[in-house]
Amino acid sequence: MAQGKITVIVGPMYSGKTSELLSYAEIYKLGKKRYQIFKPIIDNRYRLQEIRSHSGMKESAIPIAHSADAERYITDEKAIFFDEVQFFDRDLADVVKRIRHLGKDVICAGLDMSFKENPFETTALLLCLADVVIKKRAVCHECGEYNGIITYKYVDNESEIDVGGFDKYFAVCLDCYHKLTQQ
Ligand SMILES: [Zn+2]
Repeated sequence: MAQGKITVIVGPMYSGKTSELLSYAEIYKLGKKRYQIFKPIIDNRYRLQEIRSHSGMKESAIPIAHSADAERYITDEKAIFFDEVQFFDRDLADVVKRIRHLGKDVICAGLDMSFKENPFETTALLLCLADVVIKKRAVCHECGEYNGIITYKYVDNESEIDVGGFDKYFAVCLDCYHKLTQQ
């Protein structure tokens, strides 16, 4: 049996990671192949049974508390998707390997770095296993160049796992990140 392929989409917030993931889902949909999307349960925002891109695309998704829970739902799909992988436990790497050995493709999307410039461990593990890595960029909130690779948090709260949007975060390039963090 052919092994599945692992694709990992990373980047800062507002870089279109979820849009990219949903574009992949579209490929399976057009090919009339079954797929399932999973996302982590983090807070009430994440209990919704769907994922949405900032551009307005959406798909239904199953919220799960632990990465291994995904395997209880898997049947005859051709592809399995995980969004917001930085919020999953590190066992997701082993779950993804087992799914690949079943001959299914796995597409993951998530933040690679926290606003403190630290790699997210689960994302890092997945990047090592990937056949294909897509590193997305955002438009820098400060200088407007298309080279934003890190999320900057401008509210006074140090937690690296803190769900939010424009109320807490924007994406910047590393030069602007350096200026902002030196202030
Ligand atoms: Zn910049």
